[in-house]
Amino acid sequence: MTAKVQNINRAKVTVHTFGDARRCPTCGSTQRGKYGHSRTSRLTPTKLEPWTHLVARRCKCAKCETPRIDYFREIRTDDQSN
Ligand SMILES: [Zn+2]
Repeated sequence: MTAKVQNINRAKVTVHTFGDARRCPTCGSTQRGKYGHSRTSRLTPTKLEPWTHLVARRCKCAKCETPRIDYFREIRTDDQSN
């Protein structure tokens, strides 16, 4: 049975990833494998930290295969309330 997942993408998304150096905690390499499973949590935006979402993406170090999660803070704007 095929489950059809509908992606309702009416929200305009502006992505601001954070420029933190994302590197392996074990060997210090910045090389990584593909991002896998990701989890998004909502944030309450403030003036100093206007992020609306925090996205955690799993990946593995390309050198020593230590799994890690990279975090991205994003600002997503949608027109729903307009
Ligand atoms: Zn590593």
